[in-house]
Amino acid sequence: MMLTTGILTKYKDFLPITPHYPLFTLGEGDTPLVKCDRVATELGCGELFLKLEGCNPTGSFKDRGMVVAVAKAMEAGSKAIICASTGNTSASAAAYAAYCGLTALIIVPGGQIAPGKLAQAIIYGSRIISIDGNFDQALNIVLALAEKHPVTLVNSLNPYRIEGQKTAAFEIVEVLGDAPDYHFIPVGNAGNITAYWQGYQECRQAGKAKKKPRMMGFQAEGAAPIVRGRTIAAPETIASAIRIGNPAGWQKAVAARDESGGLIDMVTDDEILSAQRLAATSAGVFGEPASAASLAGLIKLTRQGMDFSGKTVVCVVTGTGLKDTDIALKNAPPFLELAADITTVEKALGWS
Ligand SMILES: *Cc1c(COP(=O)(O)O)cnc(C)c1O
Repeated sequence: MMLTTGILTKYKDFLPITPHYPLFTLGEGDTPLVKCDRVATELGCGELFLKLEGCNPTGSFKDRGMVVAVAKAMEAGSKAIICASTGNTSASAAAYAAYCGLTALIIVPGGQIAPGKLAQAIIYGSRIISIDGNFDQALNIVLALAEKHPVTLVNSLNPYRIEGQKTAAFEIVEVLGDAPDYHFIPVGNAGNITAYWQGYQECRQAGKAKKKPRMMGFQAEGAAPIVRGRTIAAPETIASAIRIGNPAGWQKAVAARDESGGLIDMVTDDEILSAQRLAATSAGVFGEPASAASLAGLIKLTRQGMDFSGKTVVCVVTGTGLKDTDIALKNAPPFLELAADITTVEKALGWS
């Protein structure tokens, strides 16, 4: 066994590392790329891989960006970080602030955070303020505060977040030996699609990859400002991590789409839930609802007749399903509840 390296050390040649930059890690990065043959066969695509970003220390890809943003904040002598969050950014900010002895200030939309994510922000000891408003309003408040006060903004508008998150593309290229043909990804505030596209382009420039993937971004139907071409004042979806009506990374996401020859489309909540179930029942992968938007997108395009045969497809599973068990339980079929008696159980199983 080796001491955990993390992305700062592993990818220091590709990150904004300087002499006073602290190299620390909570174990982010190096997440599994799981080959899912049963789902690939069902959808008729050549090879399908799920990138399990829920395996990061706080259960989402946000950790890759946060470790870089927090290291840069430390290097600059900052004592506090601040973010608006639908849940995962705050969980990650709180954890890295705790590790580094910084204060994390977190502004969340009231009543809209999955319980697992809120529990994380609480247990890591951050200062939490819940506002009577949505994510977009929380982000506006945080932006104004970061202008006026000595705190470092760690939302994905912080360019170091994107730098860290691009490392997931490096890992995919390392494992596959090249970029995939298609890269499916949920789109919320649109930082991650920007980061992956940057990562793939850097792989190409560094000679690590011969091709670049088409970037296939998916928003939730009730929160699809980029697809509709206008901001959404009251975004609605069960996928809380992508419940965003005015993405900060809008223009960059559109650029990633156009430069890669990809698309940004939307999926319904039902499509998200059934993709979440398919990943769980046919690949043993339990992602949170927002994470399932990528696979839901692949399913939707397949049903529309798009042909992925012979193609290598990666779907990012952006966060673990354990953060948001309410939705999985609410949509589960009932299970048998019986007396603690072998005969009764055998009978119910049809084995007697
Ligand atoms: C943050 C997040 C997203 C959306 O990513 P953006 O960079 O905001 O587009 C999707 N899924 C999960 C689980 C997230 O935490």
